[in-house]
Amino acid sequence: MKLRQITSTLLFLNLFMSVGLVKAQQLTLPKLAYAYNALEPYIDAQTMEIHYSKHHQAYLNNLNKALTGTKMEGMPLEELLISADKRGASIRNNGGGHYNHSLFWQIMSPDADKTPNGVLADEIKATFTSLDSLKKLMNNGAISRFGSGWVWLYVTPSKKLAVCSSPNQDNPIMDVLKENRGIPILCIDVWEHAYYLKYQNKRADYLGAIWNVIDWDEVATNYDNALKSPLLKMIEKDAWTALKDFHMVMAQTFHPMEEGNYGPIRERAAEMATKAKILAASPIPASFQSVAITKAIKTLVEGSEKVEKQVRKKNKDEKIKESLTKLHDTFHIIQGMCEE
Ligand code: MN
Repeated sequence: MKLRQITSTLLFLNLFMSVGLVKAQQLTLPKLAYAYNALEPYIDAQTMEIHYSKHHQAYLNNLNKALTGTKMEGMPLEELLISADKRGASIRNNGGGHYNHSLFWQIMSPDADKTPNGVLADEIKATFTSLDSLKKLMNNGAISRFGSGWVWLYVTPSKKLAVCSSPNQDNPIMDVLKENRGIPILCIDVWEHAYYLKYQNKRADYLGAIWNVIDWDEVATNYDNALKSPLLKMIEKDAWTALKDFHMVMAQTFHPMEEGNYGPIRERAAEMATKAKILAASPIPASFQSVAITKAIKTLVEGSEKVEKQVRKKNKDEKIKESLTKLHDTFHIIQGMCEE
């Protein structure tokens, strides 16, 4: 491994560790492993400098501002992104901006390995038939992306390679993408700020040039890491929307009940029973399929029907408390099975 690769790998790890392990510390820019002019003539020095020191820095500053003094301070960045939808526009845009650009700097290099090797090369061939057709697919995604955004090569929860594009600073980790979830291993920035100084409106020319500095050795490192990452299962679970929808009703009825407020469960018991049935009818994601989880979901349906019946018959609070608590336990058993 070249020294530069070791450095950039460490920097990338450091990015994850600094957000994962160090609590309540301001996030910082990952150091560039090359000079601003190192990617010339494909990416000019001025674009690099402004892009890194102004644009990326601004996303980072705004992210730090949005995190400071909140419960989210010190949370792993990926955990924020996976639930970006509920975290608001600032986390979504600036957290995405920080993550996406950090990956972008890492996968570029002045002495790039221009073709993938090993397992990644085989997988690209198996999925896209050739490196050229993968590039074409990504370039098409980038060209047809209206306005600002990114194009991605990512690893799906079923450990396949896939390509997608996303608007603004969204990325495949985020729940705001309804499909195309996974861990990005290669990205291309198609915001005008990434190419306008040199290429003006000619996005296609920029896309033609950038492959000269995409370092497949770095992408291969990301691929290996993604395959091993626990984030993949977290995304798979998060993408199981029927489970998420049930969870929402459970959280919004059980917790008030714990505090003595039976209003929400009396209002929403029928809705919860319906969500349980929808969950039972939804396909269980591949990693979580087992006899035990199928059984637990059946228990969940029965439990939610029981609560619904008790509410309908205007049973006393204590009765409902007993059944809803049991139902809540069952739900957490299912949750636990998706986290092992
Ligand atoms: Mn950018």
